[in-house]
Amino acid sequence: MARKSEPETFFSEKEKQQLVQAIERAEKNTSGEIRVHLARACKKEVLKEAQEIFEELGMTKTAARNGILFFLSLDDHQFAILGDQGIHEKVQEEFWNQIRDELIVHFKREQFLEGLIAGIEKCGETLSNYFPYQKDDSDELSNQISES
Ligand code: CA
Ligand code: CA
Repeated sequence: MARKSEPETFFSEKEKQQLVQAIERAEKNTSGEIRVHLARACKKEVLKEAQEIFEELGMTKTAARNGILFFLSLDDHQFAILGDQGIHEKVQEEFWNQIRDELIVHFKREQFLEGLIAGIEKCGETLSNYFPYQKDDSDELSNQISES
């Protein structure tokens, strides 16, 4: 059955929980912060839209500037992965391309949950190399899925 493009119900409660758990698992190994945002549609170019949400969610305010946002626009079938400047100083373009390509493969098969979880895991892995988990780590950004 095709998914509806309402951000609130695109994923079932159980699926949302699986996403949150994937973020929690990833954040156990890194001080980096990962978020997933679902938008109904883009009013402007997807990257600009994602950047605005990035700011709105306070993702530019982490101490090490190491937040990553998975932004999905449902109606127009677009997505973007955004990392803050702390991450850009560490990883190459290749990192983003790999995650993007993996998401595309999953999304084409309508495997949105699987794709996002794979992407989150990959980000967690890479972030842990550059931003290892700190004993006094705090959850700077909510792990809940946000919607607009
Ligand atoms: Ca943290
Ligand atoms: Ca978090």
